[in-house]
Amino acid sequence: MHLSNYDVCVVGAGLSGLSAAAFVLRQQPALNLLVLEQATEPGGAVATYHDRGYQAEWGPHGFLDNCEESRELIQLAGLEAEATTAPLDRFVRYVCLGGRLQCIPQQPLKILRQPLIPWSAKLRVLADLWTAPLAGEPSVAEWVSHRFGKALLPFADAVYTGTYAGDIERLSIDAVMPGVRDLERAHGSVIRGVFKKMRAARGNKGGKTGRKGLPAMTSFSGGMAMLPGRLADGLAAQGRLAYDRGVLEVKPEGEGWRLATNQGELTCRHLVLALPVNQALSLLDGVLPPPPLSSIPEARILSVLLGFDHRARIPFGFGYLAPESEQRFALGALFSSHMFPGRAPQGCHLLEALVGGRRHPERLELSDDELIQGVLQDLGQLMELPPPSFSAVLRPRAGIPQLEAGYTGLLAWRDAVHAAHPGLHLCGFGWKGIGINDMVKEARRMALRIGAQDRGPEGAEVKGVYF
Ligand SMILES: Cc1cc2nc3c(=O)[nH]c(=O)nc-3n(C[C@H](O)[C@H](O)[C@H](O)COP(=O)(O)OP(=O)(O)OC[C@H]3O[C@@H](n4cnc5c(N)ncnc54)[C@H](O)[C@@H]3O)c2cc1C
Repeated sequence: MHLSNYDVCVVGAGLSGLSAAAFVLRQQPALNLLVLEQATEPGGAVATYHDRGYQAEWGPHGFLDNCEESRELIQLAGLEAEATTAPLDRFVRYVCLGGRLQCIPQQPLKILRQPLIPWSAKLRVLADLWTAPLAGEPSVAEWVSHRFGKALLPFADAVYTGTYAGDIERLSIDAVMPGVRDLERAHGSVIRGVFKKMRAARGNKGGKTGRKGLPAMTSFSGGMAMLPGRLADGLAAQGRLAYDRGVLEVKPEGEGWRLATNQGELTCRHLVLALPVNQALSLLDGVLPPPPLSSIPEARILSVLLGFDHRARIPFGFGYLAPESEQRFALGALFSSHMFPGRAPQGCHLLEALVGGRRHPERLELSDDELIQGVLQDLGQLMELPPPSFSAVLRPRAGIPQLEAGYTGLLAWRDAVHAAHPGLHLCGFGWKGIGINDMVKEARRMALRIGAQDRGPEGAEVKGVYF
């Protein structure tokens, strides 16, 4: 039997796999590399929807431009001219509080200057300066209450609804904010740690990127699908991407790996599994020492798209998020045609409302009509909306990995696997974060491992908190 042998096989042509391939080939263009994708198109969770002049997203709507690796990826894809940005300091965001949309400053400390919480709650935040770190693996809600007081819970809820569609009672603070936990442990206080870090960054001419001000949300004129599409076209043109090639089994063999696919077997020296955590764990089941978790929970959401004519009175900005305490039907909505013009026909508006998430999987079972009516009723109480001239429901298949109790143990397991298997590289949806920037960073780290240039796990990054 003819057995193809590769230097590098990348499993998955989502953004992680395509980024890993692009970074590997940038540093070692002569490598014999193949990306294997089970579907017949690239992108995984990233897909753009077009209908009757409206353009929306099945998955991610964009990513912040404060990540060096993602900026490099845009260059590698040759998409600089097509990138469109919406700066956070120009496009305000709202949180639904007390049944109204309240404009929220994009920096946690500025929230304290607004009349959003009582003075007693603002003073309580300062208790962070002398509160001992919580031991164990607390949830986000436990940790926020302990350090800053319960009054900040709706804001924390909005942040993690917007990113994870998650439940702050279940998400682990060590998993979603490892950098902030490190600051807390090192300085005995988050506020003190943040100020020291800012001072150090100022001494370093504005930090790693040298940028000032808030980052901008980035997408592309033809939607997010342009990014995986362009990367995949480049690889396919070089015969380095195989569609309809599902990997069924992997096992170590000699110095490398053997893969069984739906179209035969192949071997490689380096195997990159650029897959969502649960799909990677299932392929590795029985192949490696058992992980501390056999799977992690996922949260699914759906989007209700609503198009309106000029009579809609939508507040200017990115959109809003609703904490669970508000008991709303929708988790929030993106004011897409404000954020990125050209997403709706001339003179019209597009709203993309999100429903479901970790707390309300039952709403995913509703019919399209029920969902559209539920969202219209909810949003109609928050802004002036005429009857919609367009509506659609998008039900993405991909779930969002939830980084809950036990997740940090799973990351430690991955570190041990990497140490024991220099030819195996695990990255992808849910490995060390869930956002596109997290994925691209991890993909580049895997490329550095393949080039034997990785310096090992870095200290956890302290990420900005944006609504
Ligand atoms: C609804 C939703 C909204 C989101 N919104 C945002 C956002 O606004 N901003 C942001 O930064 N991030 C967002 N994300 C997260 C972002 O989409 C992910 O970080 C990113 O797309 C993950 O890419 P990936 O390549 O790791 O995984 P995937 O996109 O899941 O790609 C994995 C690929 O592997 C393939 N595959 C799986 N198993 C096999 C196999 N055995 N053999 C071969 N191929 C296989 C799949 O077909 C798929 O193409 C969102 C995600 C979802 C689901």
